[in-house]
Amino acid sequence: MSDLEALRSSKIPIVWVLGGPGSGKGTQCARLVEKYGFQHLSSGDLLRDEVQSGSDKGKEINEMMVKGMLVPRQVVLDLLKQAMLKNLATAKGYLIDGYPREVEQGEDFEKDIAPCSLVLYFDCKDETMTQRLLGRAASSGRADDNEETIKKRLVTFHNCSEPVIAKYTQKVVIICADTDPDTIFGQCTASVDKVLTTCK
Ligand code: ADP
Ligand code: MG
Repeated sequence: MSDLEALRSSKIPIVWVLGGPGSGKGTQCARLVEKYGFQHLSSGDLLRDEVQSGSDKGKEINEMMVKGMLVPRQVVLDLLKQAMLKNLATAKGYLIDGYPREVEQGEDFEKDIAPCSLVLYFDCKDETMTQRLLGRAASSGRADDNEETIKKRLVTFHNCSEPVIAKYTQKVVIICADTDPDTIFGQCTASVDKVLTTCK
């Protein structure tokens, strides 16, 4: 059996964690990793690792990220697939953070990798996300955590990513992400626990 077939026939839950920039995906994923031992894969982090490597691909990716644009679909999909298969033997679950960013990416993922089990959607006000990102800017060192790029990222999010939520309504759980981290975590674990019982 190929690794991909093994992944597909396993009952390992695949959770897409979606929400605008600064909605708290990374923060909650870190806590979910601690509680469930899931593997956290942030498409943004995988891309930034590629940029860090200094490769030609990384340079192209960086130019697009600084403009607040989405990078080509195949690039992200390949990085995700590699990372998932690398950890298949020990994986208890996958948190796919910030992906899919657009409907086509979701279709690619489910066709090329495996169907997702649950979509956690972090619903958050633009003002809240902007404030958090400006707060994060001081420590994140991220080229895209500045007021101008944040505005563009929010527009890209509303245009490209909200249709994803609309498409996967049966699998989506809407998390009220304007509140404090503990309350948000409670909402997340309630949904993950449910999926774990059905995935068994
Ligand atoms: P994302 O991964 O969705 O872009 P992060 O988890 O990196 O968002 O959070 C962005 C910033 O907001 C971080 O500085 C984080 O500390 C802060 N933050 C995250 N969740 C909350 C929350 N519930 N309340 C207040 N601040 C938060
Ligand atoms: Mg993040």
